[in-house]
Amino acid sequence: MPSHITIPENHPRAESLRTRELLVSGFRRGLVAAEGLIAHGRGEAFDYLIGERTTDIARIAIRAAAALLLLSKRPVISVNGNMAALCPKEIVQLAESTGAGIEVNLFYRTNERERVIQKVLEAHGARNVLGVGPDASASIPELSSERRRVDPRGILVADTVFVPLEDGDRAEALVRMGKKVITVDLNPISRTAKASNVSIVDNVTRTMPALIESAVRLKNNKDLHTIYNNFDNASNIDGSLEIIRKGNLIADKKES
Ligand code: ATP
Ligand code: MG
Repeated sequence: MPSHITIPENHPRAESLRTRELLVSGFRRGLVAAEGLIAHGRGEAFDYLIGERTTDIARIAIRAAAALLLLSKRPVISVNGNMAALCPKEIVQLAESTGAGIEVNLFYRTNERERVIQKVLEAHGARNVLGVGPDASASIPELSSERRRVDPRGILVADTVFVPLEDGDRAEALVRMGKKVITVDLNPISRTAKASNVSIVDNVTRTMPALIESAVRLKNNKDLHTIYNNFDNASNIDGSLEIIRKGNLIADKKES
């Protein structure tokens, strides 16, 4: 269904309003769960606090994430409804530039939503979308019902899972399974951000193009191990928290 709202280019919150429209349209097309709209609202609040920009701190995490994806033998990108609505093209581009698989993985799993998401990804060039229907026949231990289903060719055997906008329980369970976990979460103190190996505290709409660019740039870099090993997730999260605590005016000065 087309949007009823025309967002004026000069509106100070134009970018944020456009993102909302993508989610609302995704909701109407059956991609996004109603709960996904609420989760986005929580993200928006944190985005306001960090100044709606990719901070230098987040850029360090993006670089470490790109290095880890390139170092991994079987990386998988886990896609939920919000991700498919916000950045379908970038999901496919990131998969191509890092050799990662793409798996649909929903908190509120319905067969119909899985298939709508699969179609959107395929329309953007994805070829082998994992985790749809009976393909999600394996399970993540300790999680209940539909939330634990994964594809035995994808997340189950992945060494690194990229799970933007993930729920804390599942991120923790993936770490316990011995996987490296990369997330994008605007809330630096979410359980997801704390449990992950690399947490990018940024809006996923800004992170994805930056992550693709970083992966392309690092492709033949010999120092990927050093880049990843030098990354400290806890202190990176503290850096984002400091920006929030001090307020943007001071943090802007400090960064420039
Ligand atoms: P957790 O379960 O990790 O403790 P939570 O229950 O608050 O956190 P969920 O609702 O499970 O979080 O997932 C939504 C998370 O995604 C929120 O932390 C929110 O800040 C974040 N989020 C939502 N939209 C975006 C976005 N566009 N970019 C980055 N992060 C986002
Ligand atoms: Mg949660």
